[in-house]
Order: sequence, then structure tokens, then C-alpha cells
Amino acid sequence: MLTPEASVKSFYDFLKEKKIMGTKCKDCGEVYLPPRPLCPKCINSNLEWVEVEGKGKLVAFTSITVAPTHMINAGYSRENPYVFGVVKLDSGPSISGMILNVDAKKPENIAIGTPMTVEFVKRDDKVLIGFKPS
Ligand SMILES: [Zn+2]
Repeated sequence: MLTPEASVKSFYDFLKEKKIMGTKCKDCGEVYLPPRPLCPKCINSNLEWVEVEGKGKLVAFTSITVAPTHMINAGYSRENPYVFGVVKLDSGPSISGMILNVDAKKPENIAIGTPMTVEFVKRDDKVLIGFKPS
């Protein structure tokens, strides 16, 4: 059985291996990303790890000019904004991350529905999920 702590830690460990891993309910087949240790549909813990392909479509985004501290430390600011968005993966689940290779100063040029491919972003000792237009 997966514990909540183990599933979050493992999720980030798998990102370091450039793998997006979710959990899949063995009973109903639903895939959860970020991984959950329980299936809320079946109310059970009969889940297993599955690798999820990092391709999908942009469904929501925002250009961030007032950045949180860790992003200011990474060089982002009002003058150098970044885009954060939600990508619905072709395999079903949606996940949020930085949207790279787009002009954060001209968000009007970014289109919902744009095909996206995962780009793993190394920051300090972590690897985070980002996406860029395919
Ligand atoms: Zn289920």
C-alpha cells in the first residue's frame, strides 16, 4: 500500500529520473497525477505506479509577475515574468507546471489547446515538471 508521504516523495524521485509517475486504481483504472494513495471512487488503496507520457494540451495558464520567493530567487520578477499553466495529458490526468518557450510578457499570444510536451526543469536539488509547445 502507498502512503501519502511515500507517494509524494516517490513522485519527486521519479522526476529526477525524468519519469512522470502517477498511480492507477487496479479496480476502476483511473489514473491519479500527482499520485494518490487512495482511489476516491472505489474508496480503496488498490493502486499501482504507472508511467504517464508527458504529452497533452494546454487547458489553462497565467502569466505571473508577482513571483513567490523561490521563483524570485530563480530570477523571475515583474520585468521577467513567467507562465504557469495546467496541461491535460493525452492519457487523461491534468497537471500544472511552468510553461516554457512562450512569451510571458505577451500572454495574449499563448493559446488554450496548444499541444505541449514535458520539459523537466532542474531547480536546486529538485526536478520539476514544465511544459513547452510541441
Ligand atoms: Zn478506483
